[in-house]
Amino acid sequence: MKNNKWQELEHRLFMKTFKRTPITLVKGKGSWVWDDEGNKYLDFVAGWAVDCLGHCPPVVVKAIEEQARTLIQTSNQFYTIPQLQISQILIDHSCCDRIFIANSGAEANEGAIKLARRYGKLKLDGAYEIITANNSFHGRTLAMVAATGQHKFQNPYTPLPEGFVNVEYNNISAIKEAINKNTCGIFLEVIQGEGGVNIPDDNYLKEVQELCKEKGPLLMLDEVQTGIGRTGTLFAYEQYGIEPDIITLAKGLGSGVPIGAFLSKEEVAVFTPGDHGSTFAGNPLVCAAAYSTLQYMLEKDILGNVTRTGKYFINKLKGLRKQFDIITDIRGRGLLIALQFRDDIAEEVVTSCVGKGLLLNRVKPNTIRFMPPLIITEKEIDIAVDVLTSVLNQKYG
Ligand SMILES: *Cc1c(COP(=O)(O)O)cnc(C)c1O
Repeated sequence: MKNNKWQELEHRLFMKTFKRTPITLVKGKGSWVWDDEGNKYLDFVAGWAVDCLGHCPPVVVKAIEEQARTLIQTSNQFYTIPQLQISQILIDHSCCDRIFIANSGAEANEGAIKLARRYGKLKLDGAYEIITANNSFHGRTLAMVAATGQHKFQNPYTPLPEGFVNVEYNNISAIKEAINKNTCGIFLEVIQGEGGVNIPDDNYLKEVQELCKEKGPLLMLDEVQTGIGRTGTLFAYEQYGIEPDIITLAKGLGSGVPIGAFLSKEEVAVFTPGDHGSTFAGNPLVCAAAYSTLQYMLEKDILGNVTRTGKYFINKLKGLRKQFDIITDIRGRGLLIALQFRDDIAEEVVTSCVGKGLLLNRVKPNTIRFMPPLIITEKEIDIAVDVLTSVLNQKYG
């Protein structure tokens, strides 16, 4: 597990922002990756919920190869075709009518906030405030740090951009108290991912939508992590009987190439030329990757696999919970699942699992987050659960 050459170089060259697992990955295929010493790992991190179709899916590799040979970057001064193809799919399969393609989750969210503020100026008497949730995660740009309701991300960077109000998640009264004539949007994750896989009550988002309809602000959903099939439907909002005014996407959208997007209802799409833009966003290369990803996902019923294997996985984890008192909660939707311990042992469990060839993510000191590729099989889930079982047996059995 020691690849000292590359890891020493990283320690010497990089800003110290990432706490990395001490392995150097050089290759991936399906749900598996290999390090530079030839060790093989089952990957339940999947590029942080990005590699929906697994590593290097042949259809996406082919699309990228062909597009790289044809046209990579033009700027948005011109019309290009792949960005229209991916946009058509997203609009056909969502409640939204218009799209802006961005380069990442944070950028998609920034754009969505700008759109909501523009809408506020034009249609809500100058309203500009956005209500977001405690424990949320919306990205690392300065405005998204202000939107992200977690002090550990905010305190190092004060003063933060104004106009964000953080309230308790899954608490409709907290939103009712915060909403006022300055509120132009309520911006929420459908399920809080980075916050620990926190699932709202069934009626919470519906009540937020009703409140928005009554008072005027936009219902904006950050589906950067939950979107693109992660929870079993293409967008997680579909499972809550609501139609948001704005949704944002990124992670799973391009099988690993940097791409994000925000979409809105027609009446919300108030931008005019020059209001927003980007040099790389929506370039033919990333859009070809995203288009092939979405086409494959829909054609091959990957969503069905997410629902099936997600249930299978949760049931197995619930079995594990019966076996080990140290596990206090299992929760999730589709293939976004958390396992919570009584004590802060997530880090050491993750480390032990890596030693046995299973990559996991510690999302909180006491919580592990599973986000395997959406093509994961029951057999691979069995392997992961076996590793987890043997690690827990060794330490807490
Ligand atoms: C990862 C994530 C982001 C940030 O995406 P980046 O591509 O890292 O900027 C924003 N919102 C949610 C819900 C996320 O999970």
